Amino acid sequence: MAFEGLTERLQKAMRNLRGKGKVSESDLRATMREIRLALLEADVNFGVVRKFVKKVQERAKGADVLEGLNPAQQIVKIVDEELTKMMGETAVPLNKSDKIPTVIMMAGLQGAGKTTTAGKLALKLKDEQKARPLLIAADIYRPAAIDQLQQVGAQVEVPVFSMGTDVDPREIVEKGMAQAKEDHNDYVIIDTAGRLQIDEKLMDELKDIQEMVHPDEILLVVDAMTGQNAVETAEGFNDALDITGVVLTKLDGDTRGGAALSIRAVTDKPIKFVGQGEKLTDLDVFHPDRMASRILG
Ligand code: GDP
Repeated sequence: MAFEGLTERLQKAMRNLRGKGKVSESDLRATMREIRLALLEADVNFGVVRKFVKKVQERAKGADVLEGLNPAQQIVKIVDEELTKMMGETAVPLNKSDKIPTVIMMAGLQGAGKTTTAGKLALKLKDEQKARPLLIAADIYRPAAIDQLQQVGAQVEVPVFSMGTDVDPREIVEKGMAQAKEDHNDYVIIDTAGRLQIDEKLMDELKDIQEMVHPDEILLVVDAMTGQNAVETAEGFNDALDITGVVLTKLDGDTRGGAALSIRAVTDKPIKFVGQGEKLTDLDVFHPDRMASRILG
């Protein structure tokens, strides 16, 4: 499970304060140093850690934690609240258009989990909103992507629009949108191409699709296992596209997790969902407060 190491380190950092009626400035400083190291070791982005520690320290001093009752508990509470803020404070729902279809575009690097997440999202919309989504297969470069989306679509019983791999993705999207209008689908989920790394051609294609359909939601799918690369990827996509939300995948894996947690702070875009497994039901709404509690253990 993600965050195990971080949880342990944070608990240890704050354990030293337990049972102390009064906390000296040097106790607080030592604890903050431990918290800082714990976050860095968990791969939280350096700048994000610096701001976080500064904030906690200020609040701890301002709240007279040093003088107050039960300083350890007060610090835990402040850390909990600041972690929650760092990850975005509250859950942010999917955008929805006033008129159908609501258009969701998936973006991300190859292997991040776009295709799987597109299927998971289609299932979620179907189950929770009785929606009738259409999946559009616009990843023509990864050989098995279209087959994979078709399989996923069959599993969740959602239609998949595809034109094979020889047609320009822009045309596929245009025709797919026309199909959705004809069939009165209320959601369209576009699975776009990814590459092993960000390149101009990929971004131009995604920008063109963005211009064409003006998606209500552009979800950036990021693999939480990829550490600081996840943050760089998120920055790259966020600079080029009007990202509206992030999906963190593979949080069920053995990842230190911290990099992923920095994404909100670095991009200022909300994490909307987390993928916590390979099954198509393994997609959860992201709740920053619950995640902070999970991290603090
Ligand atoms: P794409 O290239 O971005 O479309 O990536 P895929 O959807 O093909 O996913 C790549 C691999 O990651 C597949 O084996 C998926 O089953 C796996 N995967 C996707 N999301 C998750 C997740 O949340 N947890 C785990 N454990 N595996 C995932």
